[in-house]
Amino acid sequence: MTAPLIRIQNVQKYYGSYHALRDVSVDIGAGEFFSLLGPSGCGKTTLLRTIAGFEEFESGTLTLGGVDMVGVPANKRPTNMVFQSYAIFPHLSVGDNVGFGLRRRTDLTGEARASLVADALHMVGLKGYGARAAHALSGGQRQRVALARALVLKPKVLLLDEPLSALDKKMREQMQTELRRLQRHVGITFILVTHDQEEALTMSDRIAVMFEGRIAQLAPPQTLYAQPASRAVAEFIGTMSFLPAEISGDRADVAGLGTVPVTADQCAEGATGTCVAGVRPEGMALDFDETGQGTPGEVVEREYFGDMTSYHVRLDGTDRLVEIAMKNGPGIPVLDPGARTRVQWSPEALRYFAA
Ligand code: ATP
Repeated sequence: MTAPLIRIQNVQKYYGSYHALRDVSVDIGAGEFFSLLGPSGCGKTTLLRTIAGFEEFESGTLTLGGVDMVGVPANKRPTNMVFQSYAIFPHLSVGDNVGFGLRRRTDLTGEARASLVADALHMVGLKGYGARAAHALSGGQRQRVALARALVLKPKVLLLDEPLSALDKKMREQMQTELRRLQRHVGITFILVTHDQEEALTMSDRIAVMFEGRIAQLAPPQTLYAQPASRAVAEFIGTMSFLPAEISGDRADVAGLGTVPVTADQCAEGATGTCVAGVRPEGMALDFDETGQGTPGEVVEREYFGDMTSYHVRLDGTDRLVEIAMKNGPGIPVLDPGARTRVQWSPEALRYFAA
């Protein structure tokens, strides 16, 4: 990243005695699609509102484009926010909704204003919708109007607070793709708040995972998934099964799997001695050939997802279950609970965490 557009350093924020942001530091780049991800109440909306200027904070610094933002009111910041509820005016037309923020721009002629509105509508896929009544739009279309209304002001940073949470699954997935495309097209910084890890993984350049007012890990999606910094992050992002392990030197003794080689980059901070080994569902596979060489175990449960089946398998000699994802397809057998099986895995698929 070149000089960051947004620099947040050591920010502490309290609501009364409640410590909502605990020493938060993060740099966000120009043109970056950045997500704040975490469970309900972790402080992600508070951080977003702090950047927007809707919240003050007790200590720390916040600069935008190198300019100190402390004391700068929200409407004087080069940011704009899209809310979960869209906040569309139902009695206005689509065009008037989008042009709402431009009404005080005395430097613009009516024509220039209309052209900016038309451009913004085009950008969000609502070309020609300007004269429509806003109340007659679908949820997805309202979301687009809210986006156009924010983009027409040409902010440097667009702040998005759970913008897709009111949409049904199919529409949400479609809008995820469109939002990403839109961000690439306009090239400005998007900061998205979401509690949906899939949403964050598919859209973001980088993600800050937050727990209890702190950033637990800040990384690109692939790193978060493959090298989670802690067991808590590993459990929040996707699925991981855990087995007790004992590391000594470059070997680990993993329950059910035996003694395996381990390298330093497989170990999260604090993973030494007695610890836990984690494995993703796609890090192991069922060996459908009865004579296979894998680790023996028993299918305890199975969940069918259409394109894949998830098996919960008890490895012989442990009381722990591992979850294994297998692609479905012609000729691929389906095992029932109770079936004996063998599990293929490789030592590199394991990641170790402090116990
Ligand atoms: P959600 O996804 O549920 O919105 P969040 O991660 O965005 O969660 P925040 O809205 O940032 O969480 O809230 C963080 C914590 O601060 C929560 O415990 C919340 O109850 C508390 N909080 C938020 N706003 C206020 C406020 N105005 N006064 C007091 N406490 C607040």
